[in-house]
Amino acid sequence: MNMTELKPANRVLMGPGPSDINPRVLQAMSKPVIGHLDPDFLTIMDEIKSGVQATFRTENDLSFVVSAPGSAGMETCLVNLIEPGDEVLICIHGVFGGRMADIAERAGAKVHKVEAPWGEPIDPQQVKMALEDMQPKLVAIVHAETSTGVLQPLDEISAMVHAAGALLVVDAVTSYCGEDLDVDGWKIDAIYSGTQKCLSAPPGLSPVSFSPKAVAALEQRKTKVQSWFLDLSMVKNYWAGAKRAYHHTAPVSSMYALHEAYRIVLEEGLENRIARHRRNHQELRAQLESLGFEFLVAEQYRLPMLNAVYVPPGLDEGDVRKRLLLEHNIEVGGGLGKFAGKIWRIGLMGESCTSNHIGMLTHALRKLI
Ligand SMILES: *Cc1c(COP(=O)(O)O)cnc(C)c1O
Repeated sequence: MNMTELKPANRVLMGPGPSDINPRVLQAMSKPVIGHLDPDFLTIMDEIKSGVQATFRTENDLSFVVSAPGSAGMETCLVNLIEPGDEVLICIHGVFGGRMADIAERAGAKVHKVEAPWGEPIDPQQVKMALEDMQPKLVAIVHAETSTGVLQPLDEISAMVHAAGALLVVDAVTSYCGEDLDVDGWKIDAIYSGTQKCLSAPPGLSPVSFSPKAVAALEQRKTKVQSWFLDLSMVKNYWAGAKRAYHHTAPVSSMYALHEAYRIVLEEGLENRIARHRRNHQELRAQLESLGFEFLVAEQYRLPMLNAVYVPPGLDEGDVRKRLLLEHNIEVGGGLGKFAGKIWRIGLMGESCTSNHIGMLTHALRKLI
């Protein structure tokens, strides 16, 4: 067998993730691999844990990184908090809420659902009503729905969830390091994200944090977590224990990349980073509207880092997207699920959120349409 040399093109990544990666992060990945229990590596892991806490804005001791992508972070939060027979409420306003419901069902929960039409946020009143008819262990909701471009307000819902005595589980994969997110201030009990969106590290890792109340729920479990790999009663001995016990071999090079990506975020400052995402969203919006694209989501609920727009009538969206990629090296996302073929999802995430990116995309679009 003759394997060809790897020669990936230098794409400009403006889809729903992964986003462009800073050369400093790529360089970090090329450093020598050391053992995952080497004292030097343990220092790196301690700093990564501080990075997780700073970026989630939390003091939770159980703040760590799952050695697998965002979906594994989702599964970690749900399978550790759910025991068979538990009643849970899952809010669904796009693909990722649906994925949470699927995981909760597989974990044996009795799943209640609140849904919103795609492109709209969940209505807190519906959450309140649903909670009255059940004994909720937890409520799970997506903060930034990447399939529709909706930013979900969480304050009212958080208050209702806690009044009902339930735990609040939040998917912050796309909002993380690009929009306002305050885990302690918003009383989020379990949160997960991914590294390849606004953090601009390579895909394949998932930062996660559990509040003391969520940790208490773990400790009160009567049954074993169904997943060995994701069972936090063991993982936590590595991340939060006094001694770092072997659990699995950490993806050392990916952790180097994450470490450097956190350094970059903290150098810029979270507030500045959020302001940059909002500013560039406005610039892209003006350009897209002048090209005939309309936004799917009402203005007050739009995600700055994921612009969901209707493709102008008469445009062969598949063909234009292919030419953007092959002739201009620019990737944008198509629609998912019921929006396939109807919308584009244009990402302005992390390193891909610059005026220069907007210029490249609009220049290419003016040539193609
Ligand atoms: C991307 C994404 C995920 C899944 O992350 P993977 O790294 O692809 O597993 C989950 N939720 C949301 C909102 C996402 O945007």
